[in-house]
Amino acid sequence: MSYEVELSPGGEVFEVADGETILDAALRQGINLQYGCRHGNCSTCKYLVEDGEVDFGRASAYSLPDSERDDGYALLCCAKPLSDLLIRDNRRPDARAKPFLRPAEQTGAVGACTQLTDELWEMQVAVPTPLAFYAGQFAELGLGDGDGRTWRSYSMASAPASASTLSFLLKRIPGGAFSGRLDSLAAGAPVTVRGPFGSSYLRDGDRPVLMCAIGSGLSPVLSMLRDAAGRGDPRAFTVFYGAKRPGDLPYREEFATLATRLDLRYVPTLDGLQADDAWTGAVGTVTQTIQREVDNARPFDAYLCGAPPMCDTVGRLLLAKGLAEHQLFFDRFFAAS
Ligand SMILES: Cc1cc2nc3c(=O)[nH]c(=O)nc-3n(C[C@H](O)[C@H](O)[C@H](O)COP(=O)(O)OP(=O)(O)OC[C@H]3O[C@@H](n4cnc5c(N)ncnc54)[C@H](O)[C@@H]3O)c2cc1C
Repeated sequence: MSYEVELSPGGEVFEVADGETILDAALRQGINLQYGCRHGNCSTCKYLVEDGEVDFGRASAYSLPDSERDDGYALLCCAKPLSDLLIRDNRRPDARAKPFLRPAEQTGAVGACTQLTDELWEMQVAVPTPLAFYAGQFAELGLGDGDGRTWRSYSMASAPASASTLSFLLKRIPGGAFSGRLDSLAAGAPVTVRGPFGSSYLRDGDRPVLMCAIGSGLSPVLSMLRDAAGRGDPRAFTVFYGAKRPGDLPYREEFATLATRLDLRYVPTLDGLQADDAWTGAVGTVTQTIQREVDNARPFDAYLCGAPPMCDTVGRLLLAKGLAEHQLFFDRFFAAS
């Protein structure tokens, strides 16, 4: 049975099919509600249900405590309607948002899977229908069949210009339901690709850009830089990338090449150096290095990508250094489970 959802006060109406989440239904019909992780963990898609009943789904107690459920809030990425609904639309206008790209699902094929560092792997996926996306967006990749399929979110590392062969940078977690299978995935293995998703994509403009990532958070940063280099973007880019040791820094040659095509300052910063590591670059966490190197964040557009605690800490630091909230974009890599 399908239900109707009305957004208040705008009056926009959309249908939610049987078994569908409210967020999926909205995106399918071209209504770009606000959302983040799509797994009930980040609470970006928390909306007030003014009228009607919902099944809250798998929203975590951390992102949606009982008191908020009692007050009528729901996470739309997990919630399914049990009646027609009236939902308060709390989207903030974004003057620099690009036209909405409707997510779609297709079956692709795994290409090369390459280990880059102790934990990071690059995975190529060929898709039969070119995927239109903005640099910085993510896709959901599914391994397996039917209800048993494992879905995980991964940000594209390739530029949108390479729409038929996508590349992803994955942190391999031993035992992880998706990444734990990386070394046994045969070339040509089917992988379902659903997307694009996300609003932390590279905005147009003439402000200098500050990017900060740790671990596989480098994936959307690479996509944005590759895209900018391909378009001859004249802005100044400063990239802070945090890792433990020199061997944890992938794509060193590519960063050198990108610096010949962009006004790019790449600042890898290491916080797990050992006595025998040869290193003359920045030392410390990304937060410590940004604290030292950035006096005034006001001029920048900033993109923070990777582990949520890092994004939150660096976000607070940049706001304290004068960055305006609407110039700050987060790609928080919440774990699915
Ligand atoms: C919008 C978005 C974009 C993302 N983009 C990327 C990306 O480009 N590259 C990438 O590698 N990840 C990305 N992630 C994170 C990734 O989707 C999750 O880490 C996912 O849970 C990994 O699945 P898995 O099969 O490896 O491990 P799971 O089976 O999900 O988890 C196994 C165990 O590891 C823990 N765990 C899961 N992820 C992490 C982690 N990152 N660090 C430490 N412990 C963890 C879990 O809590 C669990 O205990 C993104 C997440 C979001 C929400």
